Amino acid sequence: MDEQREEEMEEPEEAQGAGSVEILDDKEERRDRIARTDKDKEKQKTMAECGRVVRRTSNHTMDKSIILPPDEIFRNLENAKRFAIDIGGSLTKLAYYSTVQHKVAKVRSFDHTAKETSGDKLYEIAVQEEVTERLHFIKFENAYIETCLDFIKDHLVNTETKVIKATGGGAHKFKDLIEKKLGLKVDKEDEMTCLIKGCNFVLRNIPHEAFVYAKHADSEFRFKNTQPDIFPYLLVNIGSGVSIVKVESEDKFERIGGSSIGGGTFWGLGALLTKTKRFDELLQLASKGQHTNVDMLVKDIYGGPYSTMGLTGDRIASSFGKSATADKEFSKEDMAKSLLHMISNDIGQLACLYAKLHNLSRVYFGGFFIRGHPVTMHTITYSINYFTKGEVQALFLRHEGYLGAIGAFLKGAEEDNPNQYSWEENYAGSSGLMSVSPDMSPMQRARSGTFDMLEMDRKERQLVKLPLLQDPSSYIPDTVDLTEDALAREYWLFCFEDALDEVVKRAVASQPDMPEAQERAEKFRQKYRHKLQTLRHQPFAHGSLTVRSLLDTREHCLNEFNFPDPYSKIKQRENDLALKYYLKTVKSLDQLEWTERQFALVRGVLAGNVFDWGAKVVSDVLESDPEFGFEEAKRQLEERPWLVDCYDQWFERLKGPPHRCALFFVDNSGVDIILGVMPFVRELLSRGTEVVLASNSAPALNDVTNGELQILTESIAAMDPVIQDGLRDERLMLVQSGSSSPCLDLSRLDKVLATVVRERKTDLVIIEGMGRAIHTNYYAMLSCESLKMAVIKNSWLADRLGGKLFSVVFKYEVPAGKLNKKEIGKQLQEEPVREQEEEKLPEEKQSLSDEENSCPGPSEDFGSDEETSADSVMRSFGRIFLNLFSKEQDENLTV
Ligand code: ADP
Repeated sequence: MDEQREEEMEEPEEAQGAGSVEILDDKEERRDRIARTDKDKEKQKTMAECGRVVRRTSNHTMDKSIILPPDEIFRNLENAKRFAIDIGGSLTKLAYYSTVQHKVAKVRSFDHTAKETSGDKLYEIAVQEEVTERLHFIKFENAYIETCLDFIKDHLVNTETKVIKATGGGAHKFKDLIEKKLGLKVDKEDEMTCLIKGCNFVLRNIPHEAFVYAKHADSEFRFKNTQPDIFPYLLVNIGSGVSIVKVESEDKFERIGGSSIGGGTFWGLGALLTKTKRFDELLQLASKGQHTNVDMLVKDIYGGPYSTMGLTGDRIASSFGKSATADKEFSKEDMAKSLLHMISNDIGQLACLYAKLHNLSRVYFGGFFIRGHPVTMHTITYSINYFTKGEVQALFLRHEGYLGAIGAFLKGAEEDNPNQYSWEENYAGSSGLMSVSPDMSPMQRARSGTFDMLEMDRKERQLVKLPLLQDPSSYIPDTVDLTEDALAREYWLFCFEDALDEVVKRAVASQPDMPEAQERAEKFRQKYRHKLQTLRHQPFAHGSLTVRSLLDTREHCLNEFNFPDPYSKIKQRENDLALKYYLKTVKSLDQLEWTERQFALVRGVLAGNVFDWGAKVVSDVLESDPEFGFEEAKRQLEERPWLVDCYDQWFERLKGPPHRCALFFVDNSGVDIILGVMPFVRELLSRGTEVVLASNSAPALNDVTNGELQILTESIAAMDPVIQDGLRDERLMLVQSGSSSPCLDLSRLDKVLATVVRERKTDLVIIEGMGRAIHTNYYAMLSCESLKMAVIKNSWLADRLGGKLFSVVFKYEVPAGKLNKKEIGKQLQEEPVREQEEEKLPEEKQSLSDEENSCPGPSEDFGSDEETSADSVMRSFGRIFLNLFSKEQDENLTV
């Protein structure tokens, strides 16, 4: 009897579609589908009319017509510099490296000594052309190879290279054809070497590349972080056939096994059985079928389970076993399903035997057979869990099929030392992981079956993890995984779609001298909306879906259409104005008693953080009420006890010795950085603490960039000797974070920043703002003291966290074991958060629960004195900021 099993009680097949797919209401979905289909038809027609369509390769029964919309598929081909191709038994994978010209916003300080005419402005913003190196990968069926080579040849304008790296069996078989068609010399590379090189590369460089699949979990896809230590592992590459490779290090690997029963078998046998030649159609059929109609089960033989051997009645005893004797026709769906089970089971069992034989606990599955298909992944995972009792983990890869092509490409790029760079997936250009979800429009499905794309941007500087992460291997930047949390997903997808009008408006307004900006902005709208729709159906397309990934996708799409910094002008205006009030602000702070000042400084940072154009509720107010000032910010700000309130601990800590060095991840431009953060920094410097200010390398929303911060700090230094001395003595350093996101991934920071942090023996990390301290890093555990400060500017989120709009999160943490009573003065008490909040919304408060326990509630001894003094500071803030946006009064104000 075969050792195969029946899948446990099958769920209705529809549920197996695309993982945690959002269910739309029927009518809406139909409407949506109709709209999509119509649009798709129209698009197809347009592409056909463009004359880029339909070349037929001869001598094939299959329809080889191919639509090549160059803008979408072979993007940036005209600037392609280097190629690599991986031609397997079924599919061709092409990698090319091209330069993408795009606009970036740069700031340049006016030279006031040279009397440059600058009006009121401190700096100018120049939009410059910059070139990014981008890696593109696309896959297509071998049947299209001639057409695709012709296409590449026709569109290859600038190629500098005369050689194409090639791997896979087709490198040999199609060598002459490639050389003839492309006029490039084929340089063959060993298939296994490329495969492993590519696998190591994606595991190290692409966040959320590997994932485990758990059919019955809240989120079926559980994505893994990139790990520095990836060895040893087993790679089971399921292409046309199966190769099993044991990988011990970069250079040490061995093909220890294989099987001829692989993806080609499913495709081939499937075609024979169902008369369907298209792979995606086969998968579609399989997702609708019932394999028990075709397979012989244990109970078909025993009449029930085979209990002494522990085999349940539903296990498969013999794949296709019923077809020999049953006197009936079998449906295509049932046969496709049975076949998929048979092959996946077989491979799962082989993989687990090899893993056990070689004592390996991680098995990665590569090759294009899996295609994110739930049945395949579940069958393989189940099989491995069953036979290894959970000792071996089955891991799938988002870019499973590109490993060989990536490796071949890297071989060709060795002279450029690709390891000195970091890479970032470009969400605007990558199609992401697509299963053959019935929710996808036919066009999307056809596209994802025939072509799919991965694009990666080369970051000029290397990104590394923050050396202060307590446990880098378990660090997850994002607080909520939206693939797990359907309610949150629905809300945020809606929220981002709803904000589109505003973003488009802002983008257009940022380029008043460019008449075509409106058109580009519309294209941006279309692209981003389409991305949101895709994510609605395929939330796991780019790894875990998070607020950060939604924000980053939006930034990528904006950049794609040359809107490098939509907030540049707003930031400039706010910076210019806020600078005028800097001295007055610090003077009023200096007048306060030490105790009062510490609180006023914290409130200053918090009130400053209210000024955030990225938060809709605030930008609406700023837009409609230009006189919105700090007074207003103060009024809005929650009174203590805050939603998360560790102020007393922080205050106690301040009575102790100064920190050696504080790393401060800053947030917004303008009021936030100049009047909130800088006075706080000034106090730290005065205490004898060195400060490293880490700001974004490139723009995102209204966040201050490193370029802007350099200029602003110099300007502040000209007014303030504390800042000036700090800069001069290098006790105040401005370092770019390596990020261009409103959120923060502490495992991908600029290498220089990590070095500075280490050299300075940083013992305090401050993270400011909703994006960096709530959407990400709320649960980040650091090996030194940390302070997370944010004002919640989204009522839905506030509600979820048990607070209200403008609630305050002030989270001070000391890692266990580092608490020195003498130094800190007072041990942290174990007290829950505000009682009334817990009573009000117990179930909603889950998200903040554990961590909050280390933050005590309101302090009894926080007396009214402090309140009054703090109020007086805020009053002076208020007076200043009431006028912040009022031009006329501006001119009358002296600092
Ligand atoms: P190879 O390098 O041998 O072509 P791949 O890793 O590219 O191997 O995987 C090929 C297999 O992927 C096919 O045999 C088939 O099972 C599966 N496959 C996935 N998508 C497609 C597709 N669109 N067309 C054909 N086969 C596909």
